[in-house]
Amino acid sequence: MTVVTVQTAARFEMIDITGRVAAVVRTGGIKQGFCTVFVPHTTAAVTINENADPDVPRDILAGLDRLVPLAGGYRHAEGNSAAHIKASLFGASQTVLVEDGALVLGTWQSLFLCEFDGPRTRKVLVKLTGA
Ligand code: ZN
Repeated sequence: MTVVTVQTAARFEMIDITGRVAAVVRTGGIKQGFCTVFVPHTTAAVTINENADPDVPRDILAGLDRLVPLAGGYRHAEGNSAAHIKASLFGASQTVLVEDGALVLGTWQSLFLCEFDGPRTRKVLVKLTGA
């Protein structure tokens, strides 16, 4: 397992981590199999979406904020229930196929670390399975 550390800079943010995960795969010694990307956090997530137009992640974050507003009459005393809900909606992991020693992603797809309660230092765990 490889730990990739990511410093986030804003309360809500989607950070393209494809290059950093691809670097792990390149040196990971497998030609084909699976790459699991997991965040050990309860207010962050990983997702796969469009990398070409920066308005897409911006719109995703804005749309999520409309869906799960910061103030929602929540009970959790820490005051970040919206971030917990968003993290559960997106999930803590993604699995990407590995072929010929590289991630298999669509032309417009990237792996994003989703920060919902930043800024914080986040860990992204990358595990390769295969041969
Ligand atoms: Zn909390």
